Amino acid sequence: MESEHQPAHVTRREFLTTTVAATAAAAVLPPSSDASRATTGKMIGIQVGAVSFVDEGVDRTLDILQERGAVNTIFLTTFTYGRGLAGRQIPGQPFPDHGVQDSDEKFFHGGNYATPHQEFYARTSLKQTRAPDHGDLDIVAAVLPAARKRNIKLFCSVEDVWRADVPGVREAAEVDLLGRRTGTTCLFHPDVRAFWTALVTDLCKSYDIDGILFFNERNGSLLNALGASHAQHIDSSRVTCFCDFHRQAARERGIDFERARQGYLVLDRFVRDSMAGTRPSDGYFVEFWRILVEHPEILLWDRLFDEAKHQVLAEVRSAVKAVRPGLQVGFHIEHVNSFNPVFRATRRYEDLAAKADFLKVVAYNNCGGERYVQYIDNVGSTLFRDVPKAELMRFNNYLLNYAEKSYDELASSGFSADYVYRETQRALAGVQAKCRILPGIDIGIPTHASSRKASPQDTYDATLAALRAGAHGVILSRKYSEMRLENLAAAGRAVRAGI
Ligand SMILES: [Zn+2]
Repeated sequence: MESEHQPAHVTRREFLTTTVAATAAAAVLPPSSDASRATTGKMIGIQVGAVSFVDEGVDRTLDILQERGAVNTIFLTTFTYGRGLAGRQIPGQPFPDHGVQDSDEKFFHGGNYATPHQEFYARTSLKQTRAPDHGDLDIVAAVLPAARKRNIKLFCSVEDVWRADVPGVREAAEVDLLGRRTGTTCLFHPDVRAFWTALVTDLCKSYDIDGILFFNERNGSLLNALGASHAQHIDSSRVTCFCDFHRQAARERGIDFERARQGYLVLDRFVRDSMAGTRPSDGYFVEFWRILVEHPEILLWDRLFDEAKHQVLAEVRSAVKAVRPGLQVGFHIEHVNSFNPVFRATRRYEDLAAKADFLKVVAYNNCGGERYVQYIDNVGSTLFRDVPKAELMRFNNYLLNYAEKSYDELASSGFSADYVYRETQRALAGVQAKCRILPGIDIGIPTHASSRKASPQDTYDATLAALRAGAHGVILSRKYSEMRLENLAAAGRAVRAGI
């Protein structure tokens, strides 16, 4: 995938040269005020991918983040094959007003942007994950000393997003309802569990970092079958996982593997018929509920996914704490936890708090409007197809404690700052002071052309709402390479006003 002709393919030596040049350029920036350097006591974090430091230089980028965003913590994307946390602006979206104004599609690959030290990976077949995007650059080694010099904390963000052509992934991949291998790893596979432990141990032992932020946005089989999220496509035949390790885990828990598979086959038929508008004689919801009653294994299989996911969270925490108890572990809590009441029921904040030092709770307001509409469209095309969508949203709002714009207006208006306030308070109440809550603030997360785009006022209001609700800080999301500087500066002003 990489090419020496691509601008971001740089050797470490070239990178350092670039950085020195960029540092010199940074001297022309306005001098930072004392206020911007002040420690707030609250964690003001930002998610940044390697490419931003490569494109804009380490010191120059840190200057901007501190001065404009009042940032005191970097969540450096260290492992992912996804474009949500890594890479430049995603293709098809306008570039922000900084960084290289050219798509990285031709060289973006993903993987481990630090150096995998092979001795840690003896127990897993997933050994070759080095990201080739930036040559032999080790982004943690490159950013950490500069961050330390400025008293900025640095966490490594690692995300459970894979690509099928990574060595070992096919063998450790999930198996879908029809027996097809997917491009995503199974969380019950011993090599996969060993990989996550190895990766976070490697990062915590090899670098003097402050901790790990672990991202896993994957959902269980029931939610996926229904597309009961902001998924763009529903394909109920692709639900997982029906591999041998799942079969064994099911047996150990007294769950009938074949009955689970049969249940999902029936559900698959229901979803496809519903989307085609073939109404069951008793109506969509009654038929859906009947399938659940007749195949309780459907719910058990969904719970089995959660169990595997939470087992990995616990193992990640143990591995990090085994290196040094003072290292911090945080988990990213995905957006669907906010707007799907059934999903909410499968997560107890208090349980998550027992495994984490902090939770990054997604409270993205601008893209949230569009995503919530998508969720309503999805569930409104299957189990709730008999309910007009505007009314379905109104009903759902009561369940979720939302006071937002109507179905027709919401994608273009986005969620309000009040949404951020309420979701922050719900998380704080849920964790019962057992861990810190850092809401994820939406700064320029890409949306469709007609949907809400971040403005300085939105960003200011959302950031202030999170802090006024009592959050222990915020994490500016998803990544610096998609944020406009005026919006970043608005978040910084809110931080200075709100603390
Ligand atoms: Zn499996």
